[in-house]
Amino acid sequence: MKTRRQFLMQSGMTAAVWLTHGRVLAQAAGESVAQNVGAGQVPPGTNASSPQSNPAVQPNPDLPQQLRTAAADEKIRTTKLTDTIFLLQGVGGNVVCQIGPDGKLLIDSGISTGTHHLVDALAKLDEHKLKLLINTHWHFDHTDGNAEMHSEGAFIIAQDNTRIRLSKPQYMAVYDVHFPSVSDAALPQETFSETETLWVNNDQVDLVHTPDAHTDSDIFVRFDRGNVIHTGDLWFNGMYPLIDTGSGGTINGMIRGVDQVLALADERTKIVPGHGPLGDKGALQRYREMLVTVADRVEKLKASGKTVEEAVAAAPTADLDAVWAKGNLKAGTFVALVYESL
Ligand SMILES: [Zn+2]
Repeated sequence: MKTRRQFLMQSGMTAAVWLTHGRVLAQAAGESVAQNVGAGQVPPGTNASSPQSNPAVQPNPDLPQQLRTAAADEKIRTTKLTDTIFLLQGVGGNVVCQIGPDGKLLIDSGISTGTHHLVDALAKLDEHKLKLLINTHWHFDHTDGNAEMHSEGAFIIAQDNTRIRLSKPQYMAVYDVHFPSVSDAALPQETFSETETLWVNNDQVDLVHTPDAHTDSDIFVRFDRGNVIHTGDLWFNGMYPLIDTGSGGTINGMIRGVDQVLALADERTKIVPGHGPLGDKGALQRYREMLVTVADRVEKLKASGKTVEEAVAAAPTADLDAVWAKGNLKAGTFVALVYESL
């Protein structure tokens, strides 16, 4: 097993890349994820969270295939954020690429069937090769292109739990979808627990873990000089977010994660959400207010003894839905997930 420093020396990146908290990847899969990891072995419909009994579930077992079909024909939209940082949007989660003489740094890899479109879009940015890929969390729509990007030359970095979850079958209860473990080529090659800092292409790139947020594997990525932050799926801009409670996600962890991002942002920071359009601090603050409002209301319902079904039926987000229920998550599903996580 090579350390990343050894890897980078071989790939010519050491001059500009320094590591903090770097360490050899020798994580034994499965040691630190407690919740629901083993649920991948449970056949659909036989567990306590079956779609019939759980108002949080919007069953769509074909979701991965639907996304793969859509991604095969997707056109990548490229938006220049700074002279060296670009936003690339297609069917999967939002992708960011930083370019420069050290090589390309990519944040998230999209859907595997759309990777050739992404590779074409990257080639148009500059002549340097892809060197690093950061995964914001384990979800399929952010990591499905990992193996292809690794074969393009990317060394993959993620939070510990991203590798652990990708190494084993996963069950995503909210959509009733089973994901098999991924190939070795798709696994992160270096992982970290809390924070990691890279110096790449004349910028400082901070990777910060936000525990128990959208999942238990989330990080946000901040370009210090570029003044750009990729929030991963802490932020669905303009819509109710998915909280993957089966992967350790919680509403309060999401709020804490958003607060961490807000503390680092100023009025000019370009903030890339995991899904939805490019945003800024004001938009993220409005999203935070919505999260806090819903969490407070659902907490009161739960404290008063309402069941999750009764809490959903009370429609505590009715006055918010016109603005926030525009994504693919229904208001009732969001309420049920918030309830579950409190
Ligand atoms: Zn996600």
